[in-house]
Amino acid sequence: MQDLLNKVKDAGLDVTAVSGKKAIAFWEQVKNNIASTPWQKAQCYIISAEYRASLNQLQQSIEELKAARALLQFPEDAEKILSIEISLSERFIAIGDYQTALQAFITISNLAVEYGFIDEYAQAVLGMGSLCHRYGDPAKALRFYQKIDSIDHALSSRALRLRYKISMLACYIDLKNYKQAEQLIKECEELSILVSDKTLAGQILLYKAKICLAKNNVSEALHVIASVPYTTRHNYLMSLSCLIKIELALCFTQIGKAHIAEMLLLSQNKKVASFTHPELKKDLYQVLSHIYEHQHEYRQALDCQKRAFQVEIDLMKRIPIGDLGSTQLRRLSRFELQLKLILSEIENRELKETTENQKNTVAQLQQDVFTDPLTKLHNRRWLDTKLKDLLLHETPFAFLVVDIDHFKSINDELSHLVGDKAIVNVSRQLSEYFSFPQASCVRFGGEEFLVILEAITLKDAQTHGEHFRENIYQFNWQEILGERGLTVSIGITLHREGENTQRTFYRADKALYRAKANGRNQVCIEE
Ligand code: GH3
Ligand code: MG
Ligand code: MG
Repeated sequence: MQDLLNKVKDAGLDVTAVSGKKAIAFWEQVKNNIASTPWQKAQCYIISAEYRASLNQLQQSIEELKAARALLQFPEDAEKILSIEISLSERFIAIGDYQTALQAFITISNLAVEYGFIDEYAQAVLGMGSLCHRYGDPAKALRFYQKIDSIDHALSSRALRLRYKISMLACYIDLKNYKQAEQLIKECEELSILVSDKTLAGQILLYKAKICLAKNNVSEALHVIASVPYTTRHNYLMSLSCLIKIELALCFTQIGKAHIAEMLLLSQNKKVASFTHPELKKDLYQVLSHIYEHQHEYRQALDCQKRAFQVEIDLMKRIPIGDLGSTQLRRLSRFELQLKLILSEIENRELKETTENQKNTVAQLQQDVFTDPLTKLHNRRWLDTKLKDLLLHETPFAFLVVDIDHFKSINDELSHLVGDKAIVNVSRQLSEYFSFPQASCVRFGGEEFLVILEAITLKDAQTHGEHFRENIYQFNWQEILGERGLTVSIGITLHREGENTQRTFYRADKALYRAKANGRNQVCIEE
């Protein structure tokens, strides 16, 4: 991609200067005149397809994605092809072509298992489950989602983890299993802090309100709904906003204000008519019918019910539920062994590479490629070799994931430059505090750090974490940040003998989001 961008720049063009329809023409021009390899041409199609999707030109977007797909080849382009297939499946869902979407999910799951891509596999299974849920079969949808549960720790995308957990949550609520739903909602809330996606956060609140309402706690439901910040620009957000209004209407009905509920929903009716999501129409008509019934307007209630029924029948016709039955689940079960193999291969690779490349990597350790330029801490590449070394020598260790609290607001309020200074300062304090030989500090992401403490107990690691947190809290930030202070949250866990380091990180991450959820500026541990 960088090659292509350089070429575009050399040709005197500016990719950032165009958007919307102009961007589509721009990338067509790049494809015809600048891109030279099939990969680069495919890239142009993919970018253009994204712009078309945002302009609601879904059919053309599909055609361009197919054109990109045709230019790529296995095995070298497997990852790119998978991401195209995933985009295609999303477009098929958006145009209501569920049959083709299912075919895409099946293709994705086959390819993902063949080439060992765990996240993509989970996305395909999530898609299949969501088709079952759309059809109105949450129990079957859950059986698909539970297949992702067994590989949860191996997912690398937090957003994906959150999405499938929210999907499970929706099923538990539809199945009236509120106990499980409440457990899951807590997990989702904590996880969403580290994902920072407004739509997903809004969905969690919607489900929280649903649970309150189911328990007859209308005032709490209203309270939760009031805290949803939503806009209606994007299609996806529009459906969320509509679902929230439906929930609000149910609250009003429950407290005897059915006429307000009616008004609220009739205002949604027009918007929904232009909407492609039939489930939304079904929900809307069903709730309207319930409201009319409440007002003893039975004719209108019946009319709405008929409409809901019509939408439901139409939906049922279009979703290939027969193909999503036990055959499909059995097919996925057959994959489970392969998935286990892939996961253990990933784990073993860590060890194998260790023995093979040890000499080489030790020599490279001194080089700059292992240092983060901004903070001078170790970078992720260094981390990879370090972890292999720890595993090879069976050295026990703890992970401390350190994340700056509300860092985005520092950038927003005081500029990116000040943000950088804050990161550099936290890094300096990290390397000063953790300067003993058994400790290493890594810049793991933007404002996120990983400290490895070797041969230490959980309790001692916690004490160190606590001291460091307090140091940062007490530090005089005046010179850098003026009036505001700065704090960090820390998640800690110990590596278990024989386990993949991804699992260790997963536990530390869990502890971190608990620390965030509990109010930040604190240390949490995960046994
Ligand atoms: P939380 O307390 O939940 O961690 O909130 P947060 O705002 O710290 O977390 P979030 O992940 O929402 O935001 C992190 C921000 O860090 C987003 C990104 O723009 C910024 N960032 C990432 N890398 C850098 C960097 O190198 N320099 C600067 N200035 N900002 C960065
Ligand atoms: Mg942060
Ligand atoms: Mg962060």
